[in-house]
Amino acid sequence: MHELAIAESIVAAVREKLADAPIRRVCVEVGRLSGVVPDALQFCFELATVGTTLDGAVLDIVSQPGRGHCRECGAEFDTGDFLALCHCGSADVEVLGGRELRIRQVEVV
Ligand SMILES: [Zn+2]
Repeated sequence: MHELAIAESIVAAVREKLADAPIRRVCVEVGRLSGVVPDALQFCFELATVGTTLDGAVLDIVSQPGRGHCRECGAEFDTGDFLALCHCGSADVEVLGGRELRIRQVEVV
């Protein structure tokens, strides 16, 4: 389950920046094409924070839609799928966004 590794790196990143400050809330941006399952990340975050300064902190997950650009007709559209298909029927689609995974905000108690 790679969500646990992600949750652990979120905890590590927050602690590296904020040392021993107790954390109330962490907001992360997760692209729909990042392969991260929000529910699994939520669950793993709770496990990863036990006994740390993030214990009991709330994890807010902001889901970002994927963005595709069709090389055939030039259209740009939102997609939640790895196999993006343009409305023109072309599968020659360049993925522009939706793979992001970043900490957007951390709230200290
Ligand atoms: Zn197209």
